[in-house]
Amino acid sequence: MQETDFLQQIPKPCFLTVQLVQHWGGQAFLVGGLVRDWLLGNRSRLDSRPDWDLAVDLRGTGYTLTQLLQKLSQENNGRYVSHQQFLTGTVTLPNLRIDISHTRNERYPEPAVLPRVKPDGIEADLLRRDFTVNALAVTLTGDKPGTVIDPTGGGADLEARLIRIIHPNSFIDDPTRIFRAIRFAARLNFAIESGTLFLLRTAVREGYLRRLTPERVLYELRCVCAEATAFKILEAALKEGVLAGCFEWSKPKFLQAELDKLSRAGISGELLFMYLLSRLPVDSSFPISRAEQQVRLAIRDFRRTANRLRRAKRRSTVYQLLMRLPAPALEILAALNTGVIKRRLKLYLAEVSKIQPELTAAELLAAGVKPGPKLGKMLKKLLWAKLDRQVKTREDEMVLINRIRGRSG
Ligand code: ATP
Repeated sequence: MQETDFLQQIPKPCFLTVQLVQHWGGQAFLVGGLVRDWLLGNRSRLDSRPDWDLAVDLRGTGYTLTQLLQKLSQENNGRYVSHQQFLTGTVTLPNLRIDISHTRNERYPEPAVLPRVKPDGIEADLLRRDFTVNALAVTLTGDKPGTVIDPTGGGADLEARLIRIIHPNSFIDDPTRIFRAIRFAARLNFAIESGTLFLLRTAVREGYLRRLTPERVLYELRCVCAEATAFKILEAALKEGVLAGCFEWSKPKFLQAELDKLSRAGISGELLFMYLLSRLPVDSSFPISRAEQQVRLAIRDFRRTANRLRRAKRRSTVYQLLMRLPAPALEILAALNTGVIKRRLKLYLAEVSKIQPELTAAELLAAGVKPGPKLGKMLKKLLWAKLDRQVKTREDEMVLINRIRGRSG
C-alpha cells in the first residue's frame, strides 16, 4: 500500500532525521499512534500532533541512537534525553517533540517488570507492541517510502474497529496494557476483540495488576484522566475490576454516582485525577505531589466541615471554614455535593473568597496602627465585617478600625 502523501505531512525536523538516517545507511519508520490515526483518516489529529514517533534501525551503520539524538538537537536548537538501556530517546524542539526508538525486540524476565531489550529489525519491533492497531509502521527510507508494514493484521483490525493483543501472554507480560486496551477502545470507539477481552479478564482475575509498581499505576490513571472519554474509560475499568485489581480496595457503592456528578459538572482531567486519589487507598508509596495530597485529604475529610457549613449563618463563617481548603478540592466538592452545602461552596468560590477590605495593611500603618499581631487581628475583623456586610465603604471601615483601636487602647 502506498501512502506517499503521508510524507508531505512530516514536520521538517522529522524529515531531516530521516535524511540523516538514510545518509548513514540506516532505516527510519513512522510508528505508533500516529500511523494508526493517519490510517483511520484522522488527519486533524495528525496535523496538530505535538509529538512524533519514529523508529530507526541503525544496525550495521556504526552509528548509535544517542549520536542521532545529539545531532538532531544540535542542528535544531533543541534538547535531548537518551534512555540507552531501553534504546529510546526524545528530542525536544520549540514546538515539537520527537520520540525516537531503535527498532528492538523485548523479553520480559517476569510478569509486570520492565522488559530487557535488544536491537532488532522493524518486524520484531512491531511484534513486541501492545495491540495490532498500534503495530503498524510506515517506511520513510529505502526504495518505496510510504509503504505500510503490517505484520499483525492491524489494518484489518482498524477496519473492523477492534483492539486485539498480539500474543496471548501480552497482559501478563505487561498489565498496564489492561488499562491501555480499555483506554484505546473508549477513545477510538472500538470494541475489545473477544479473545483479547477473555485474556484481559483472566489477567485481572489472576491478580497481575497487583504486581505493577504504584508509579506505573498512577501513570496509567493520569493517562486515563487526560482522555476526552475519561469517564467512559473509568466506568469500563471499574466494571472489569481494574482498579480493585491494582489496590487493596473494594469499590465504594457511591463511586459511580459520584463519577456521574463530576461528569455532569464537566470537571477537568486534572481534577478527576485528584478526586480518584481521594477515593483510592493511595499510601505514601504512591508518588503524588504535596498539592495533590492536600487536595486528596481535603476531599476525604470533608464530612465534619460539611456539617459546620450546613449550620453556618454568616458569610464570614463560610469563609473561615473553607479558606484553608485548596481551590481544586473546593471545585470537586461543589460538584459532588447538593443542596445548601453545594450552594455555600459555590458562593465561596464565586464570591466570598474574592472579597477584600478596601483598607490595606499599609494604610492602617499610615493611620498610626502599630505593626505586629494586633494589625493582623484588625485586618481579619475588617474582613469578617466586610463579608457580613457590616461595613460597605472605606469610611465605614475606618470607623470600625477607630472603634477597635478605642476599645483596645
Ligand atoms: P497517543 O500518543 O495518540 O496516545 P500512542 O499509540 O502513540 O497513542 P503511546 O503511549 O505514545 O500511544 O505509545 C506509542 C506506541 O508505543 C504505541 O502505539 C504502541 O505501539 C507502543 N506501546 C506503548 N505502550 C506500550 C506497552 N505497554 N506495550 C507495548 N507497546 C506499547
